[in-house]
Amino acid sequence: MTGPRESSKKAAWSGRVVAVQPRIRLTRSFDERSHSYLGYVLHINGICGRDAGEFLIAVGEAAHEKHRFQTGMELSGYSVPVEDPRKETAALYKTSGLKVVRNAEGETPAGPPFLGVPPNLATYRSRGHRRLNTRTYDAKCTTCIWGCRMPVEMIIDQWNPSKKQYRFETFCYGPKSCPFYRPGPVRKVPGRKGMSYTEEDWVDEDATAHRGPND
Ligand code: SF4
Repeated sequence: MTGPRESSKKAAWSGRVVAVQPRIRLTRSFDERSHSYLGYVLHINGICGRDAGEFLIAVGEAAHEKHRFQTGMELSGYSVPVEDPRKETAALYKTSGLKVVRNAEGETPAGPPFLGVPPNLATYRSRGHRRLNTRTYDAKCTTCIWGCRMPVEMIIDQWNPSKKQYRFETFCYGPKSCPFYRPGPVRKVPGRKGMSYTEEDWVDEDATAHRGPND
């Protein structure tokens, strides 16, 4: 039974890659945070099932190692709707039958936003990020390989970890000198008994202190 049911849930899609960004999930527990490095998110402009338009597909790191995704490629594949949309920015994942229909052509513009083939996930991890204003992300950074919109899972009470809240946050892994960068307001993390933790600027300074302005 599972065979036909599985295949009927899969959506066939094809189109041009508008952007590739890392697929990283953030877990927060008051002032503590940890990252899950899951792969990459492909922003595609094309056809998905019966719909035409733009959509996001989550893929794993092995697929990126193999195909070296970048803006301008044309791809096709089959993917499944995500089970829990609070935990993914993409609408679809579990991709199979991925094909490169056409490779990207021409020179990669210098940026920003920075295009080209995103680095491996270890590179993102070692670079560290700074918070990025959501509006700046939406206006300037959705195609940049250093931009990332993360699903955030917040454990409100560490003694009762099943009590969770979800939201999305945007971050920049790019050079500190990027003229588009705006931090936006500091972020607050809810805790138990109505307490809240404010993530001050020093957290970002600390996370990226090992990089020079243009790295
Ligand atoms: S602010 Fe960051 S994500 Fe946005 S264009 Fe600059 S480097 Fe890229």
